[in-house]
Amino acid sequence: SAYLDYNATAPIRPEALAAVVDALQAVGNASSVHHPGRGAAHRVETARRHLADLLNCSPGEIIFTSGATEANNLALRAAHRREARIVTSGAEHPAVLETARDLAQNEPGSLTVLPMRADGLVETVALEQELGRGDVGLVSLMAANNETGVLTDLTPVVKAAHAAGALVHTDATQMIGRLPLDLSEVDVDLLSLSAHKFGGPQGVGALFVRRGTPLPFRPLITGGGQEKGWRAGTLNVPGIAGAGAAAAAVSRDLADDVARVTQLRDQLEHMVTTAVGGCRINGQQAPRLPGVASITFAGAPADAVMAAMPHIAASDGSACASGAPTPSHVLLAMGLSREEADCTVRFSLGYATTADETAAAAEAVVRAVHQVRAAMAATAG
Ligand code: PLP
Repeated sequence: SAYLDYNATAPIRPEALAAVVDALQAVGNASSVHHPGRGAAHRVETARRHLADLLNCSPGEIIFTSGATEANNLALRAAHRREARIVTSGAEHPAVLETARDLAQNEPGSLTVLPMRADGLVETVALEQELGRGDVGLVSLMAANNETGVLTDLTPVVKAAHAAGALVHTDATQMIGRLPLDLSEVDVDLLSLSAHKFGGPQGVGALFVRRGTPLPFRPLITGGGQEKGWRAGTLNVPGIAGAGAAAAAVSRDLADDVARVTQLRDQLEHMVTTAVGGCRINGQQAPRLPGVASITFAGAPADAVMAAMPHIAASDGSACASGAPTPSHVLLAMGLSREEADCTVRFSLGYATTADETAAAAEAVVRAVHQVRAAMAATAG
């Protein structure tokens, strides 16, 4: 068997699990001033420092949230100004796209969704044109795509956006823990992340807000003023402690993991593409995350392929919204037909993936695709 669905969620790291259990066993509200309360606050601040070290930012620039969905909501809703346009891309996660659409609902023309190129990159000429109109308040582009792994080159985006007076948010949920991202070099104003994608627990994430960012600040959740008023509510100390421990493990292991995971992914793609005809790798022409292989198998619907390899955990189509039988909007935006999108399987590898797992997955998917194609041919005949 093999677990190759790290983009949906990664297995929890032992260090993170230990930190979660340790925090659960201790009593204390991080807002209380007595000794147990200070212990909880210490766990939170240690985690904040680990995250800040991983991103090379200051701990004061990190706001803990319930995950990347909330961080994206907070970023877009807090940064949005009336009369200012939001520019994003057709390949964003629904947590960005649906939030942007919701904000634009009562303000016609206030949202622009950039087209994607066939290789999975944003059309940069289109971005420059939009910025040239002078009314853009916020550009939100993901650092790495969850379905294809395709990376956005953020540096020129930031340069162009800042020159046009726009802020930049990036949804880095799939990037953090998979590739280094140094916030002293990448000058984005806002960045979202989620702990469960890099070996922390589910239900905890963070929004980075660069110091001095001029936001028409409005929290989504009001109450007791935790997280400097950005996000009220008793802090999720066990979750935050787990996120911090996972971040520390990433800082320690990332360089080795990048090399190893890239090699395993390349082997998987090689084994599959040499054994099955009529397949293509999405996003292969662009810079990609090390661990993602998005493969379209012509004539073999992904749900049938997945059913024919029950011991391999991969993903058919739309990642985080799976369960919904709609074709992937990311693949459609890249120009795949509906049928091609429906015939696409995503394998995503990560820090604990082994060569045995990728070999088992390659063998299983080759067999499954042949089986499904044979069954389809028999039905058609
Ligand atoms: N953004 C991207 C790119 C994702 O892949 C995900 C995956 O779930 C999310 C946001 C949502 O993150 P969370 O599960 O923490 O809400």
